[in-house]
This record gives sequence, C-alpha cells and structure tokens, in this order.
Amino acid sequence: MKDDCIFCKIIKKESPSNIVYEDSNVFAFRDIQPQAKHHILVIPKKHIPTITDIESNDVYGQIFSAIKKIAKQEGMEKGGYRVCINNGPDAGQTVFHVHFHVIGGEKISDKMA
Ligand code: AMP
Repeated sequence: MKDDCIFCKIIKKESPSNIVYEDSNVFAFRDIQPQAKHHILVIPKKHIPTITDIESNDVYGQIFSAIKKIAKQEGMEKGGYRVCINNGPDAGQTVFHVHFHVIGGEKISDKMA
C-alpha cells in the first residue's frame, strides 16, 4: 500500500467508492467518469504503478478471473465488453496504480483512441 495513492485509499476504504467486486487479491469499483453504461476499474490490491512493474504473471490471472465474474455479475457476458489499460503518461495513464478499465453494457465506439 502507498499512502498517497488514491486507489490504495479506496482499497483500504479510507476514500469512498462504488464497490463492484472484492477478493483477497483484486478490488473493483465504478469509474467516477464513466465512458459507457458500465465502466469498472479492476485493480490488484498490491500497489503496482504500471503494468511494466508487474513481476508475476499471477496478477494477470487474478485480474482476468475477477473480470470474468464481474462481467457476468453486471450482465455484460453476452453483449461483450472492452478491457483496456493506459500504460504510462503517453497513453493517458493518470493514476499510477495498475488498473484495467472494463467498459460495456451498451454498444461502444469501435475506435481504440
Ligand atoms: P487512467 O487515465 O487510465 O489512469 O484512468 C484513471 C481512471 O480513474 C479515470 O477513468 C478516472 O475517471 C478514474 N478515477 C480517478 N479517481 C477516481 C476515484 N476516486 N473513484 C473512481 N474512479 C476514479
């Protein structure tokens, strides 16, 4: 945990969030500026700044297992959804705690950028 990280504060419930899912390794909550009907941020509980800093592939397994459950829970399984990561400043990463955007619940733009 990093004291000045907003997502660490959300995990610790020191900052409010709209929680969607939680297990021992993964936390998920609704984005405050949703880009579609459903816009959920799925994050490792461990503070890792960027995907470049991920040292164990276990993190990906844990995250994608959670995403699958969340998609079912949110009713996005059938229609599909987008999973994206902004990695680093050039890609628009603004919060330096790894997060996977899960976006769907309606037809979304086919443009990636
Ligand atoms: P990125 O630009 O990929 O780093 O995405 C950061 C995302 O975090 C943005 O979509 C923000 O809207 C979202 N965000 C920032 N602070 C919060 C917060 N306190 N609660 C929920 N979402 C947040």
